[in-house]
Amino acid sequence: MVTSGERSGRDLIAAVRGWTLWTRPGPWVAVTLSSMAVAVALSVTSAFLVPVTMAELGLFGLLAGLAVAQTEVTRRIERQRRMLSHGPHITVTSVWLLPAALLMPPQLMAALGVVIYLYLAFRSWNGIQPGEGHRVAANATTMILSGFGASLAAFCVGEQGVSTIVAAAFGYFLVNTALTGLGLYLAAPKSATPSLCLGSMDDNVLEAAILCVGGLLTMVLTEQPVLSALVILPLYVLQRSVLIKRLEELATTDQKTQLLNATTWQEGAQREVSRAEREQGTFGALMIDLDHFKHINDTYGHLAGDDVLKAVAAVVRQETRAHDLVGRFGGEEFVALLPATSKEDAVVTADRIRQRISELVIQTHTNEGEAVSIERRTASIGVAAFPFDGSNIEDVMAAADAAVYVAKDSGRNRVVGSPASPHAGTATMPAPAAAKVTVPGPATPLASTGFNSTGSGSAAARSALVGAA
Ligand code: GH3
Ligand code: MG
Ligand code: MG
Repeated sequence: MVTSGERSGRDLIAAVRGWTLWTRPGPWVAVTLSSMAVAVALSVTSAFLVPVTMAELGLFGLLAGLAVAQTEVTRRIERQRRMLSHGPHITVTSVWLLPAALLMPPQLMAALGVVIYLYLAFRSWNGIQPGEGHRVAANATTMILSGFGASLAAFCVGEQGVSTIVAAAFGYFLVNTALTGLGLYLAAPKSATPSLCLGSMDDNVLEAAILCVGGLLTMVLTEQPVLSALVILPLYVLQRSVLIKRLEELATTDQKTQLLNATTWQEGAQREVSRAEREQGTFGALMIDLDHFKHINDTYGHLAGDDVLKAVAAVVRQETRAHDLVGRFGGEEFVALLPATSKEDAVVTADRIRQRISELVIQTHTNEGEAVSIERRTASIGVAAFPFDGSNIEDVMAAADAAVYVAKDSGRNRVVGSPASPHAGTATMPAPAAAKVTVPGPATPLASTGFNSTGSGSAAARSALVGAA
């Protein structure tokens, strides 16, 4: 006969087995559980060794109240930021945990971390999904251990004062960065990049700014606790500005390659046309179409294809100047506008890009996770220039696009400059003597695969341009 005790024991085991925690990579689970064990051990030890005063309990209540008020004020912003963020998501929790680490016994700091994360999970993040509790626990653990890092740094400095606050903020930042970076790396080692694991410059500046506010709050709490609520408004503005910046990024950037998206590129190009007209200047335009790109998708899968797109985008960015406009037009087509550049110079840049693309070695993996190395890829590049190929961006890009077709038809892996155009006669600058420039590369390695179609996406991009005219 099965007793109710045995039944609830079995139910508990079944529930624990059902946690999605166990579907995560083994090393991530091991590090996360070890971190939690360390956080609990430190908190319990501290609870036995360090007495808590009534004043400290009052401070705990004040910081918890401020954190709750802050969560309520920024609830909508925080939800949107979380939905739109990529890479590590920075919360403002440090602003409360840094003063807690400096002014309270460690066990109270840890308890505050737990309270804040539970409140955030239920109010800002739509509650904890079944089996997903470990995510909240892992995040709270990282912050609590960062708080321990702050306490340790402050303890090492010894004296009370500004240097202690600065040391504590550094301690907090270091532990937080190390644990978050390690967690993100172990969660997906194959797709991990330094900027994904360590956060962008903006992410780190934001975390530093939050810690600065935390440092100021520490001083206010010791001198004039009643003024501590003043911190809520600056934090609200900080979070809102981060959300606005992210929305701007999403509206202007191609999320796969981080280049400009087609609309933003076109807006920038229109501005460049106006500038060139005003100053009677010129600019070069490149249309870059990867050769036989579909073959990569068909052979290795779309994820590998995406990695090739990212690598090519990085090459185009590296081989152009900071003020050149580089965008992704869609699919496997990239565009670059080179201000104050002649067609001949644009052809030289284009050939450098072609050469670099052909030398790329991209380590990636198939959809099934098998590691593969993709190399000897090529691109066909069409080059046109303002005002020789047209008096507006649509005509210039149509000329570059037509040159891509010529490059494809003449064997791919080459740069072709647009031929002399009817607009040359109306141009304010003389048309170049050598109007057609062709820079053939070595024979394309996939020439024997029978993929002879010219890029249909180019036609789509061209019609988009014409349509936008
Ligand atoms: P060609 O040398 O004639 O340009 O041949 P191609 O295979 O490069 O050109 P085609 O236009 O036939 O194929 C383009 C392919 O690009 C088809 C589409 O599946 C793929 N593609 C478009 N966007 C993406 C993307 O974001 N990621 C990946 N992985 N593939 C994409
Ligand atoms: Mg192509
Ligand atoms: Mg194409």
